[in-house]
Amino acid sequence: MAKYFGTNGARGKLDLLTPEFVSRMCTAFGIWSGGKGNNILLARDTRTSGEMLEGAALAGLLSAGCSVTMLGICPSPTVEFSVLKHKASGAVTITASHNPPDWNALKFVDSRSIAVSRERGEEIEKIFEAGPPQAQRAQWNEIQPLHHYATACADHAAAVKAAIDTSLIKRRKPKLVLDCANGTMGQVCPQFFKSLGCEVITLNAQMDGHFPGRPSEPTEANIGELLASVKELGADTGIAWDGDGDRVVFVDETGKFVIGDKIFALSEKIALAQKKGPVVTTVSTTNAIRDIAEKAGCKMHYCRIGAPYISEEMARVGAVVGGEEVGGVVWPSISYGKDGLMTAAKIVEAICRQPLSNLVAGLPSYFNSKTKLPCAPERKYGAVASLAGKLQDKGKPTTIDGVRIDFPDDSWVIVRASGTENYIRIFAEAKSQEKANELMQSYVRMVDAAIG
Ligand code: MG
Repeated sequence: MAKYFGTNGARGKLDLLTPEFVSRMCTAFGIWSGGKGNNILLARDTRTSGEMLEGAALAGLLSAGCSVTMLGICPSPTVEFSVLKHKASGAVTITASHNPPDWNALKFVDSRSIAVSRERGEEIEKIFEAGPPQAQRAQWNEIQPLHHYATACADHAAAVKAAIDTSLIKRRKPKLVLDCANGTMGQVCPQFFKSLGCEVITLNAQMDGHFPGRPSEPTEANIGELLASVKELGADTGIAWDGDGDRVVFVDETGKFVIGDKIFALSEKIALAQKKGPVVTTVSTTNAIRDIAEKAGCKMHYCRIGAPYISEEMARVGAVVGGEEVGGVVWPSISYGKDGLMTAAKIVEAICRQPLSNLVAGLPSYFNSKTKLPCAPERKYGAVASLAGKLQDKGKPTTIDGVRIDFPDDSWVIVRASGTENYIRIFAEAKSQEKANELMQSYVRMVDAAIG
């Protein structure tokens, strides 16, 4: 079991992420990704600890004999796009995504632009724990050059522009309110949409690692100012990103929150209308994704919960689109990272044809209900496993991640141990809210009995 790697990188506060830790972990990553002579990209988000940890990461990578290209402050999807553009061996991004300001993390990406999962992270941890061998550290005459590359954001924006109908957007000139969360999208998105002729009003566009405007996770509760502004200003839509710009949610023209799974479903519809092919999502994602794939005659593939697993499966099956329910969509024509710029651009293109509320109304409709029950770390996996055995006769069980049971009336429930917290999570989906609540409650009782 990985000690430091979670589902997507090594995350923590500064008591864990000391410069010593970061330097040694980055040396281990440098060796793992090929060692001496490889080119690794290095970037960070807007957090106050970013510059300090960037210095430590740089020293670690150079010590592994890697040449390092520093991209500066960048959204995570820009880094993933840049790995492919520069044909780099990998990348390190210092970002804690949507976590509070006192957190940070090392997010590692391989040469295919796929984030390093917990399992692959264990290999890096082994090098870290043993101490990177002296023979694999650069000698004085093996230390590689350091490059600065200042236009990664512009490159990424140009690639996204090439993938959308810019003339349609320029003709229609939609009015957009953009909430950049004081994160990295502040330096990309306002300029991007202005250059397409959109009327742009910004909230929290100034990059600030204290995140003074709002918490960086784009939940409905956190984006109250955006919800009110869209209606007040008569805008066509509102867009809110998380701190590192891989996740995005929307507000429709009536001021209503459009949750992440709807954004993924819309993106899937848009992607499959352009090119048919396999779709990948996690076992805890709405059946709306399956319905859209089936209607388009495309195959669905399910994977474990976590961005790296989506990307790995997409690469394996040659998927044309993939994503997760929180509003992260992967567009393989750009990279295998969840891309909040590409997603936003594709949805803005679509709302030039019809209002967002209409687009959302045209999606398959499901209702969900979720909760989490506290459970001791030594018991959580065992409790879920014992439940899996008892549920064989209840419906069709899937055990890709936790246990998911699909019922003949198209409702389903998933029970899984949280990978990062001491909880068992229960999520139910059905054709009505009542049925979803009922299903969730009946599994709460079962899990309670399993925990004992
Ligand atoms: Mg994020």
